[in-house]
Amino acid sequence: MEFNKETICVQGGWEPKNGEPRVLPIYQSTTFKYETSEEMGKLFDLEAAGYFYSRLQNPTNDVVAQKICDLEGGAAAMLTASGQAATMFAVTNICEAGDHMICASKIYGGTSNLLTVTLERFGIQVTLVDQDVSAEKINKAFKPNTKLVLAETISNPAGVVLDIEKFVALAHQHGVPMICDNTFATPIHCRPFEFGADIVVHSTTKYMDGHAMAVGGCIVDSGNFAWNAYPDKYPGLTTPDESYHGVIYTERFGKQAYITKATVQLMRDMGACQSPQNAFLTNIGLETLHLRMPRHYENALKVAEYLEDHEKVSWVEFSGLKDNQYYELAQKYMPDGTCGVLSFGPKGGKEGAMRFTNALKMIAIVTHVADSRSCVLHPASHTHRQLNEQQLLEAGVLPDLIRLSVGTESVDDIIKDLEQALAAV
Ligand code: PLP
Repeated sequence: MEFNKETICVQGGWEPKNGEPRVLPIYQSTTFKYETSEEMGKLFDLEAAGYFYSRLQNPTNDVVAQKICDLEGGAAAMLTASGQAATMFAVTNICEAGDHMICASKIYGGTSNLLTVTLERFGIQVTLVDQDVSAEKINKAFKPNTKLVLAETISNPAGVVLDIEKFVALAHQHGVPMICDNTFATPIHCRPFEFGADIVVHSTTKYMDGHAMAVGGCIVDSGNFAWNAYPDKYPGLTTPDESYHGVIYTERFGKQAYITKATVQLMRDMGACQSPQNAFLTNIGLETLHLRMPRHYENALKVAEYLEDHEKVSWVEFSGLKDNQYYELAQKYMPDGTCGVLSFGPKGGKEGAMRFTNALKMIAIVTHVADSRSCVLHPASHTHRQLNEQQLLEAGVLPDLIRLSVGTESVDDIIKDLEQALAAV
């Protein structure tokens, strides 16, 4: 039976058989028992499917990955230890030393660091492109060794709404997959595969968990990208893997090829696996994702409208506002709402921003966004402090930018706290 996303949130992934626990159990076991050596041997040759060591796969994790896969409408998915690990694996599964990739410039600071510092050190060249410039301009960034394009559906913290179809068209024109970081929108508000994206990554740490309890990540593959059409470009998927007696992933695993390779090679070797405890907590969060996302958006829209009219506020960036530059794109890709994260600049520049955050009472200063509790961050002095002024501007981070993650509390109480803190600016 096919289910709607609300039902998938509540019941997806775990289908207990007669007499089995109603609630997804935590398989808190590093290892799994077999009757014969032959059976275990087949697992190591990828000739049979099954669990043997939780670094590669664990039943609790697989249920949660399946739920996220179903929510996104994908073909296969895997959990990772964090959102960073998800991006790292999603990229390095098809991109190696000597290759090139394109990434939207207005992205999460951690992703920017991962790509432009760490992966550059690994020999992967990255070109950052402003997601708002014309397709012609972005087109110039492609090289013969470009292997993928990456961008966030809604960028953190700038709130840029991606023109997914523009990026997908460019990527496919050059025979490479488009990877969407769908963390902020979540599949409740946007399913990038419906607009042609090939792979989705998530920091499940954010709205999916939703309670600031468990760091985690997920990669979902649509199964739609034709790796075999470009065998020279993606030899890791289309030629024999000697570490598994010559298995060819696309031949053996079809639509599961990309996720299988990332699991049995990258997870095996780099080990950034999610703990089953965290997968269990993430699953509890997912059970209410469809209820929380509309509330986050509704509260954020009211807060954005309040801030827009406030004399102590210089600017507000929220794509739900009708006069926002991303309103049309948001309506196209996320007609039911975007997310609860907005940004704004209190009067008085960087100092004004600091006076404002220090005066807050209920809304906390934390290095987090996208959970039930409202919180703020001043990226120029927190998450993005490693970037220089030019890089800050490229990432869409102004010195006075306050990132406000609107929670699910009473919107009147949120506005009351903002009101008294703005009085201190
Ligand atoms: N992607 C986005 C859009 C994020 O906002 C974050 C973290 O804030 C990440 C990825 C990284 O996720 P994690 O903190 O789970 O490693």
